[in-house]
Amino acid sequence: TPVPTLTLNDGRDIPQLGFGVFLVDPAETERIVTDALEAGYRHIDTAAIYGNEEGVGRALAASGIPRDELFITTKLWNADQGTATAHAAIDTSLEKLGLDHVDLYLIHWPTPQKDLYLRSWLALEEIKAQGKSTSIGVSNFQIEHLEKVIAGSDTVPAVNQIELHPAFAQRDVTAFARANGIAIEAWGPLGQGKYPLLELPEVGAAATAHGKSAAQVVIRWHLQTGNIVFPKSSTKARIAENFDVLDFELSAAEMATIDSLDAGRRVGGHPDEVN
Ligand code: NAD
Repeated sequence: TPVPTLTLNDGRDIPQLGFGVFLVDPAETERIVTDALEAGYRHIDTAAIYGNEEGVGRALAASGIPRDELFITTKLWNADQGTATAHAAIDTSLEKLGLDHVDLYLIHWPTPQKDLYLRSWLALEEIKAQGKSTSIGVSNFQIEHLEKVIAGSDTVPAVNQIELHPAFAQRDVTAFARANGIAIEAWGPLGQGKYPLLELPEVGAAATAHGKSAAQVVIRWHLQTGNIVFPKSSTKARIAENFDVLDFELSAAEMATIDSLDAGRRVGGHPDEVN
């Protein structure tokens, strides 16, 4: 079964399931991303701050997979927000990745204290116009930050990548995004292993019913919710397990049960506080 795609507001397609490399050891990234490509992933989510763009790039080059079959995302780090700094940052990322363009470039965090995210967004518009990123979007933006870039530019972000998992559904931000044509990417889709999501009986019951693991049920919940999702693992067997989610479907009742687990429980940093 092929990975489903979503069409972004700029007309480009994105694979709904990918592989994230936050906390993937730079020394092991080439091997781990190679494992992911062999498992079938074609969408990789990295960031300048992860320190592993070179390893991602080496794995892509060694794979021989045609560039147009890959979807590569990287992100502008907070310290590089601004105009000239953003332009320099995308060039550095492309050099490390060994690519002439990425498919998606994101502002990693709004850092509202610095008040540079609108200026950075205008730089991302230029980066898109130059062909260095096919699509552009944001990450960790709250409604007020989205409103400011929409009002102050000609481009609605293609995506907002936010912390999202069954205990933290972010229904206000996702409703605003949906109403404005912004796709939602779920980071920490498995709760980063920071709360016992995979041990919850509601998740376990669905896993048993479908002969799947708890992680596979949660990834499937994301796909059926309409989220773009890229779980991370450094373990070959789990990398394959997390991709093997295309051959079953949660029922409406199972979806509703997992929806009911929302507890407003953030496991990562708050967008107003991360610098
Ligand atoms: P995640 O929810 O994907 O959790 C990863 C952890 O879950 C693993 O380290 C492992 O402990 C566990 N796990 C993975 N597969 C499993 C399985 N099959 N069974 C049992 N346990 C399993 O968290 P994440 O890596 O933080 O999020 C995914 C991606 O989102 C990142 O790699 C990164 O690309 C992106 N991200 C973005 C931001 C941002 O600010 N934009 C922040 C965090 C993560």
